Amino acid sequence: MKKIIELKQVYKDYPQAGNLQTVLHGIDLDVVSGEFVAIVGPSGNGKSTLLNLLTGIDHPSRGEVIVNGAALQKLSNEKLTRWRGANVGIVFQFFQLLPTLNLLQNTVLPMDFLGKLPKRQRQQRAMQLLEQVGLADAADRLPSQVSGGQQQRAAIARALANDPPLIVADEPTGNLDAATADAVFELFAHLRDQGKTLVMVTHNAALADAASRKLEIHSGRIHADTPTRVG
Ligand code: ADP
Ligand code: MG
Repeated sequence: MKKIIELKQVYKDYPQAGNLQTVLHGIDLDVVSGEFVAIVGPSGNGKSTLLNLLTGIDHPSRGEVIVNGAALQKLSNEKLTRWRGANVGIVFQFFQLLPTLNLLQNTVLPMDFLGKLPKRQRQQRAMQLLEQVGLADAADRLPSQVSGGQQQRAAIARALANDPPLIVADEPTGNLDAATADAVFELFAHLRDQGKTLVMVTHNAALADAASRKLEIHSGRIHADTPTRVG
């Protein structure tokens, strides 16, 4: 199986009151293509920091992060932004759709950024993605005009726009009620079944159970790394 994530002795320090606070302590991690990794652990223990290193939003203080063959620290900012657009779809707890663009425009945006498809095809693909997440009727609405669950489904459509090999999600149902979270769960389960690689921080029991592997992060260390029933 193809290795899609490789972390080697990754440390992350943040300045804190004049000192350095070590948030990640020598993380080693390999993820192969098609795995669904659920990351669990108490808040403030480095889970989001770890995800930010996988997407190149942040860089480690020491160690190496290789994702889909790219050593992220070695890329210039410009190359890294482009790499991210093609290789990772990111889903956040608070959706982070652009408020002045409707759901279709939000979904088209990553394709505009890469500029690979002709404009008409970008629009068509965005519409197909919105259909897949059950939002065909809401394509022309602004994020503020739809529910949180609909915003998160649009954010998932946006994350899939460039068909990235890796989807990273940080507590994607953390801001949704249980029924709405179920609809988002279904979408991730479908992506898993399609063979997408998923790395997700979640406190949602159903989502964690749908993963093939569970990583428990405590105090910036991998406390446990276990295959689940699904895996
Ligand atoms: P989790 O996602 O597990 O709740 P985080 O990775 O967000 O934890 O945070 C881990 C620790 O790192 C926390 O103590 C947090 O305050 C600190 N931290 C996170 N990001 C920054 C930052 N940009 N600057 C300084 N400290 C940070
Ligand atoms: Mg977090």
